[in-house]
Amino acid sequence: MTNLFSAPCKPLLQWYQTDLRDLPWRHTSEPYRIWVSEIMLQQTQVKTVLPRYQQWFQTFPNIQQLATAPLDNVLKAWEGLGYYRRARFIHAAAQQIIDKHNGIFPEQFEDILNLPGIGKSTAGAITSFCFDMNTPVLDGNVKRVLKRWHKQPEASDKQLWHFAQTAIDASQNPAMWNQAMMELGATLCQARSAKCETCPVSKHCKSAFSNIEEQPSNKKKAPVKDVFWQINLHTHPNKGLWLQQRPEKGIWAGLWTPPIIELPQKPEYSPCHIHLLTHRRLHLYTKEIATKPTTEGIWVKQLSEFALPTGIHHLFEKQSILDTAISK
Ligand code: SF4
Repeated sequence: MTNLFSAPCKPLLQWYQTDLRDLPWRHTSEPYRIWVSEIMLQQTQVKTVLPRYQQWFQTFPNIQQLATAPLDNVLKAWEGLGYYRRARFIHAAAQQIIDKHNGIFPEQFEDILNLPGIGKSTAGAITSFCFDMNTPVLDGNVKRVLKRWHKQPEASDKQLWHFAQTAIDASQNPAMWNQAMMELGATLCQARSAKCETCPVSKHCKSAFSNIEEQPSNKKKAPVKDVFWQINLHTHPNKGLWLQQRPEKGIWAGLWTPPIIELPQKPEYSPCHIHLLTHRRLHLYTKEIATKPTTEGIWVKQLSEFALPTGIHHLFEKQSILDTAISK
């Protein structure tokens, strides 16, 4: 039986080498750098990741320094990337690498898969990019491309893993193959537009030029819940702003904010800022408090030393009163 992927291999790899975007993680096969890029890119756009990626290695040049850093510093370095669970996983994984692998990033697929925060697709990216293994990536972009190539929009994950494995086995260049498939999905074969006329594999794709548009998922999205939070601003002319660390679990876990009180119902006045999370719409109302804080916390003069949620940063930008009390 002809392997559907044998023929497109060459044009796809050629296209990738000519048209690839110049991204810093494409200039390295160092596992630490590849791993961090893969985790950052999981739920964050390339343009947001770029500056943070460079800064990350200035703060944590190697796995040892990452593993021994306080979690607070790791969360601070993650600021702006969102989904902070990933930062916690990276920190825990670095500690596991020190404890179980003598500080050297493991090379075995199963060992990589056992690290916190790493699934099969991310492990596939790391092992192919760093160790040249025939391990496919199956992120959202690659899934879409494979479904279109095979004209199987309802293909299960099991089928897609099979397609992906068959394809990479035929490629003879697993690292470049995975990169090319991800790039194709990110640039030409996008969810809402497929640029088949410039696609290097259009001759081999069963869905080429068929006006594909991603159908809305049948899965019911969880409703977004409105939450009303009062942000208590205790400021002091010399000491700054009173901040406390959020609990380990829940919204903005482990990050620093002024004391927050959840309001039982929507106030009659407008919020100072609305911040949207995946399943929550946070309506933030500030209240300036003249009395001494009674909650746990600390006075902070330099906000830049603490990991604050993006929603709080945006709120502060709107609160000119804080300009006099703290430096951002
Ligand atoms: S030919 Fe069109 S549908 Fe097929 S992979 Fe290329 S861009 Fe996607």
